[in-house]
Amino acid sequence: MVLKTGAEYIESLKKRGPLRIYLLGEKIENPIEHPIIRASINSVSLTYDLAHNPEYSALMTTKSIITGNTINRFCHLHNSTEDLQDKVKMQRVLGQVSGTCFQRCVGMDALNAVFLTTYEIDQKFKTDYHQRFIEYIKLAEAEDWTIDGCMTDPKGDRSKRPSEQKDPDVFVHVTERRDDGVVIRGAKAHQTGAVNSHEHLIMPTLAMRNEDKDYAICCAVPADVKGITYYYGRQSCDLRRLDETEAGNVDCGNPVYGGQECLIVFDDVFVPNERIFMNGESEFCSRLVESFAAYHRQSYGGCKVGVGDVLVGAAASIAEYNGVEGASHIRDKITEMVHLNETLYSCGIACSAAGHKTPAGNYLVDLLLANICKQNVTRFPYEISRLLQDIAGGLFVTCPSARELSNPETRSIIEKYLVGAEGVSTMDRVKMLRLIENLTLGRAAVGYLTESMHGAGSPQAQRIMINRLSDLEAKKKLAKSLAQVSD
Ligand code: SF4
Ligand code: FE
Repeated sequence: MVLKTGAEYIESLKKRGPLRIYLLGEKIENPIEHPIIRASINSVSLTYDLAHNPEYSALMTTKSIITGNTINRFCHLHNSTEDLQDKVKMQRVLGQVSGTCFQRCVGMDALNAVFLTTYEIDQKFKTDYHQRFIEYIKLAEAEDWTIDGCMTDPKGDRSKRPSEQKDPDVFVHVTERRDDGVVIRGAKAHQTGAVNSHEHLIMPTLAMRNEDKDYAICCAVPADVKGITYYYGRQSCDLRRLDETEAGNVDCGNPVYGGQECLIVFDDVFVPNERIFMNGESEFCSRLVESFAAYHRQSYGGCKVGVGDVLVGAAASIAEYNGVEGASHIRDKITEMVHLNETLYSCGIACSAAGHKTPAGNYLVDLLLANICKQNVTRFPYEISRLLQDIAGGLFVTCPSARELSNPETRSIIEKYLVGAEGVSTMDRVKMLRLIENLTLGRAAVGYLTESMHGAGSPQAQRIMINRLSDLEAKKKLAKSLAQVSD
């Protein structure tokens, strides 16, 4: 089955075996119908539905470089620099439509990074990881999987290597090697879309040394494999999802779509040989981590820009509802928001256009520009949010709840005093304010702000890469040549 619809994707999630999920103190038996989880599933569903939408299908689908079949771009190995740019454009569209994190990119980025790394490991060690991984990709394409690219370990004491930790489980590692596979134990933190995935593609989280061999493991397991427990992340304002009123889910701000992050614990999980793509080749961890990080840093030049478009739209709308859309300082602030947002997009497009073919045959972004892209993403969304909050006025955090707006006794009072520009319904104004709260303080702010800061690596991780890739020696030569200073 290729190219699932959103409904077929949800059906396929139901067909998984039971998952062990803890959320808000409860063991969740039916994740699909839980209001908090459902909103995040709705976001992933968009990545399937838009593939069938004539307006977007050219962007959402492409031809597999392995089989030639038409597949969803989220399962694709990038085949050109245009492909890399189309990825960013697709992510922008999805950010615009969902207003949040749609979760499926991490797996796409992991597929591409593991593809190029397994090829290079095989070249050096005459292993057969790459062919195994091609078979895995064929399955991913055929089943149209959502894959959780599973990288970030909890890390324990940051001053110590994985093999030096008091508790070895703070990094995923191999506890037993058998003829037919390995057993792994440990955890992965901040896992985007973990519960909404069919598969976890597990990768090491940092460069490893020889003594960390047991931690140099890359492998795949189904989401419902025996031994996994999911601890669902608590996020700001998440209880608003449970707060149905007659006025609907107004207080959610974004009633339909949400993101998802989990702590995943692997408690002696068996992985058969055909699903192992690195097993002890510690010198290749840095190649895998850096290429995955670069792909995901590129991704942020698409998804965050799409959500940024929603912030710009919310700014223009609330200005209108407040009757201040003509004020020159408001127009100037909105122009600044657009300038910052399009700068991020330029970075996403630039690192894609400057990409190159890898020895394995897929395309990788320009590493320096991808890191510049993400470094800007750690800053500009905060300024865009600040400008939106400035334009909105303080009501987005002081507004009475939807319950007051549903209660006939209080509704008319709220409507009388929270009225805005003539002809604008108070309810519409409140809805827009709640969306602004959601984007800049609430649940979507996790995806738009905190994730912009820490997702795909915290700011310092990019600065290390920028420093390493900036070729200062060549630049020194330029300056010395012009100044006529001889070495
Ligand atoms: Fe995709 Fe952006 Fe979410 Fe990462 S943060 S999974 S790139 S939407
Ligand atoms: Fe992310």
